[in-house]
Formats: sequence, structure tokens, C-alpha cells
Amino acid sequence: MIIVDPHPRDTAPGSADAELGDARTINYLRISVTDRCNLRCRYCMPEDQTFLDRDRLLSFEEIAQVASVLVERGVRKIRITGGEPLLRRDLALLVGMLKALPNPPEVALTTNAMLLDRHAAALRDAGLDRLNVSLDTLNAERFERLARRPGLPAVMRGLDAAERAGFAGTKLNTVVMGGFNDDELGDMLAFSNERGFEQRFIEFMPMTSNSYGLDATRVPLSEIRARIEQHGELAPRQRGTGPADTFTLSSTGQRVGIIAAISLPFCETCNRVRLTSEGVLRSCLFDGGEVSIREMVRSGDLRDGLIESLEWLRRVKPPVHDGVGHVQMNRVGG
Ligand code: SAM
Ligand code: SF4
Repeated sequence: MIIVDPHPRDTAPGSADAELGDARTINYLRISVTDRCNLRCRYCMPEDQTFLDRDRLLSFEEIAQVASVLVERGVRKIRITGGEPLLRRDLALLVGMLKALPNPPEVALTTNAMLLDRHAAALRDAGLDRLNVSLDTLNAERFERLARRPGLPAVMRGLDAAERAGFAGTKLNTVVMGGFNDDELGDMLAFSNERGFEQRFIEFMPMTSNSYGLDATRVPLSEIRARIEQHGELAPRQRGTGPADTFTLSSTGQRVGIIAAISLPFCETCNRVRLTSEGVLRSCLFDGGEVSIREMVRSGDLRDGLIESLEWLRRVKPPVHDGVGHVQMNRVGG
């Protein structure tokens, strides 16, 4: 077992860190199934990328084994992400395996939707509960500038296919970037309202490895709110256990979420762990502890080591992150 603990904490019984660790519940697992992507969003990865060799990736069977133990230990929701998860061939098979676990968790998918038109029906048939689609602009030229690839029409086809397949409650995730798309919040709200999506605005997260050639700035929470409030009042619905604060926009009655991991870290109530595509279990998107469990899975002797790792990660999860990630989003599964 390979353990990395960048900020060793005092987890002795009675210490503040130990109390926080004891109070935490881990019930949400995010699984990155690949680091590859068919886009190259400038806030996520550079143009030239070396991706993992395919034999480094956990197989669907291996992922399902890990998920099975974690579900048994209290995980109730699983999100499949990446890289672009729909690049993994027959992803619906993995969804089916997760939904076939005893006491099946909710299974959701985060995708750029470029390939969704081909896969939406199979994913729905396999039992996928929900979709989050990342879409930062409704302008095709901006899309291409950000993603370094054209793609807006494909995303729109993907959204249509998701609707036809019967997905409800789809969320549109928009990272707000000053000088890039911060003039489009009203258009995004109107689009989401018309299509019945829940619009979520996400504060741009500085990572040491991002903003490759994108001359954009972080728009803080207060400014994001002010921009939304140009289109109606925001009535609070809930401060979730997750990162999103959700509101009702008075002018339309639509639900709007804001995720502001930098202005308003949700670390204290964070309930998640992340499994990377090569089998590293992480406590945090930023620099928390991590444990490589790949060898455990591959040796066939997973259960006890995984339970021990989960317990350790629960305890070392940072009380608050340091605000800058030192990894690439596509590698840890944003
Ligand atoms: N490829 C899929 C997609 O784009 O939806 C899933 C993986 S992607 C890494 C997951 C999410 O991370 C996307 O919604 C993307 O916008 C977000 N993301 C990536 N880099 C980010 C950053 N620096 N700040 C905020 N969000 C970021
Ligand atoms: Fe790909 Fe998603 Fe990263 Fe964009 S944000 S490059 S779609 S993994």
C-alpha cells in the first residue's frame, strides 16, 4: 500500500483533527474512469498530454470491487467522471455493475456530452440516475477557444438525446471565468430554464497546472451572485451537504446552484472520497492524503486494506483546503 500524507495531522484521540475526523461521514464516491479527453479545456489540461497507458487503468470489474466494499461501508452516491468518461468503451456496463450491487447507490455521470447522443439511451437502460453536463458557453467560437476543439453542436445533440432517453433533473455546470464567459450568465439561465435543466455556476479553481493560455480570472462568489441577481432575486433553498448552495430565481422559479469551493470551502461537511483511474483513493481534490489501492485490487486481497484506507482518509481529510490544487483536474476527476 502506498500512502501519501502531505500535511500530517495530529489524529491522536481527543485532538481537534481527530474530532473532525470522527465526526465525518463518507457516503459519496467519485470515480474517474479515464484521464483521456476529446476536448482540451484550457482550465483543465495543456494541449500536449501524456495519458496513462491503458493497462494502468482499473478495469470495470476492479472498479466495481472497490465500489462494492465502499457501498458496504456507507457510500450511497457514486459519480462517474474523468477525463471524459464516455471515452471508456461500453461505460454503460460499469453503470449496470454499480446498480447491481446489493443496496445499490445512486449513480450519476459528469460529462462534456460530446458523445452523449450515442450513449444516452444505453446509460439510461443500465440504470444511470442522473447527468451533469459541463457547458461553459453557448457561443460556438468561444467553445472552441476554451476547449481547443469545436464541439458545441455535438453537446447540443447530446443534451437532446439525454432528454429523449428520459433523464430528468439534468444539471448544467458552468465555470465562470472573468473576461471569458462572465457576460453569459443570463443566457445560460434562460437556456437552462427553457430546457428544464438546473443551472449551476462554479467558481474557477486555480490549480498550479491550469489556465493554459486562457486569459481569464476567477470571479468570486459575491460577483457571481450579483450577476445572477441582475435576472431576479435568489431565494435560498438549501445549503447542501455537498458543495452547491441552491436557490430559486424569483423571475422564473428555476433552481440555480452556486459552487464556490474557493470563496466558501465546504471542507467541514465534505463527505466524499475520490478514486482515480489508476486506482489511487484520495481524500480531497486539493492536497489531502492518498492511498494507492491498485495493488490490493490486483492481488485479490482488497477488503481489509481498503476499509483501513477509507478510515485513514476520513481522518486526514483536511479541515480546510489550501485553495490551490497541485494536480490536473482530468487526473483526479474534477
Ligand atoms: N470531462 C467531463 C466534463 O468536463 O464534464 C468530466 C471531467 S471534468 C475534469 C469535471 C468538471 O471539472 C467539469 O465540469 C469542468 O468544468 C470542471 N473543471 C475542470 N477544471 C476546472 C477548474 N480549474 N476550475 C473549476 N472547474 C474545473
Ligand atoms: Fe476534458 Fe472535462 Fe477537462 Fe474539459 S474539463 S478537458 S471536457 S476533462
